Amino acid sequence: MDQIRDAILNGASGDELAALPIPESYRAAYVRRDETAMFEGRESWEKDPRESLHVGDVATPELAPDEVYLAVMASSINFNTVWSSIFEPLPTFGFLDRLARESEWAARHQRDEHVLGSDGSAVVLRVGSAVRNWKPGDHVVVHCNHVDDQDPSSHNDSMFGSNQRIWGFETNFGGLADLSVVKANQLMPKPTHLTWEEAAVNALCAATSYRMLIGQNAARMKLGDVVLIWGASGGLGGYASQLVLQAGGIPVGVVSSPEKGELLNRLGVEHVIDRKADGYQFWADEHTQDEGEWRRFGRKVRSLAGEDPHIVFEHPGRSTMGASVFTARKGGTIVTCAATSGYMIEYDNRHLWMKLKRIVSSHFANYQEAWEMNRLIDMGKIQPILSGVFDLERVGDAALQVHHNLHEGKLGVLCLAPERGLGIADPEKRERIGPDKIGLFETHASEIATEG
Ligand code: NAP
Repeated sequence: MDQIRDAILNGASGDELAALPIPESYRAAYVRRDETAMFEGRESWEKDPRESLHVGDVATPELAPDEVYLAVMASSINFNTVWSSIFEPLPTFGFLDRLARESEWAARHQRDEHVLGSDGSAVVLRVGSAVRNWKPGDHVVVHCNHVDDQDPSSHNDSMFGSNQRIWGFETNFGGLADLSVVKANQLMPKPTHLTWEEAAVNALCAATSYRMLIGQNAARMKLGDVVLIWGASGGLGGYASQLVLQAGGIPVGVVSSPEKGELLNRLGVEHVIDRKADGYQFWADEHTQDEGEWRRFGRKVRSLAGEDPHIVFEHPGRSTMGASVFTARKGGTIVTCAATSGYMIEYDNRHLWMKLKRIVSSHFANYQEAWEMNRLIDMGKIQPILSGVFDLERVGDAALQVHHNLHEGKLGVLCLAPERGLGIADPEKRERIGPDKIGLFETHASEIATEG
């Protein structure tokens, strides 16, 4: 891989890259099948990704006709890397075993190491014989929707594909590595004004937020909508906040510290709720929710926005769903894609049906939605929310930060890129869009670090 890295850094042409040998093994971050029981008896928060995430060499898989080999320059930590590395709610090897039963090519994924990672910015090294739109040397970002294009159920909205999977979570050969194998229909052009690490953090969270709010398939926000956003400076929320602002809505962002609140203000979000400072206790005990707290929270939202939210952007799950259903306005929509704090959800159904609200589910994004979101990033309308960067060797530290909610926005991971700041193909465009806007989350993180 060193030869490949040097060639890329020296601006090798596509033909020159295509002539370089693909190594038989490559450096990757993975969890091991024989360690899936290692955290038994520990509470979730005590399960430490630094113990389960290994960085070492794995064998390079063969290339299927519809796939490409990528030199991965940078990747990012998503919450699914946390789930995989703490083996919750299930070890991911079951996904690989099921995938392996589908075809000869799919069988490659069944291994005793699961290479994780569902984001990446990369350079195409080789394309399979059926690939038409990409060639060696192309600079790309990767979205994580792994779709079987011979399955009829994939052809209206590919998220409905019966065997749709998330790359690097439900499939092997993920992006937290120097090399990856992905389907050609996961590729999108890398935004030309971004560094490798800025480009690497967007696709998964940004496209998920796009489908939840803007695309045709979920909440479908409109001009003027009030949108309550949980975790508004986190991975999903950082993009959701920007999308609502860009689409002419009124975001009300919930965060858990004054620093995160200030970051949102700098992003342009005027209405911010610090859930810790306000001390909301939606659950009186493990079994009982406190409607008085829902009311107190709802009053706060109304006092800020002047009205109840048209849309609630949900992902914390058990902790917040009762409050979310209560707080949405009459006829409003609660759009959910996750349940970080627990997936057995409880809410008062009277508030749902009597007020004609609806709960809409959403999961990642189809290729079209991911592409449209990537276009917004490429145009500089939506900024990357990179707040920190780790070397691949320190992937466990990065995953721990996300697991313990110590981060803002997204954490990037350098793979083949030897240092930060490389990969900008169009510096004038970067200047036009504004380096201060592009780097806001990182500037903020470093200011907080300096203040101690
Ligand atoms: P993240 O970067 O950790 O941000 C989530 C934010 O939610 C946190 O920063 C935190 O913000 C807030 N939060 C966490 N627990 C909470 C609780 N109990 N009550 C209220 N707020 C809470 O993670 P993410 O990338 O945004 O992902 C969030 C969830 O969505 C994860 O479970 C992830 O697996 C899932 N996800 C699903 C999809 C999909 O396609 N279905 C895609 C992406 C992510 P504050 O502390 O500042 O409030």
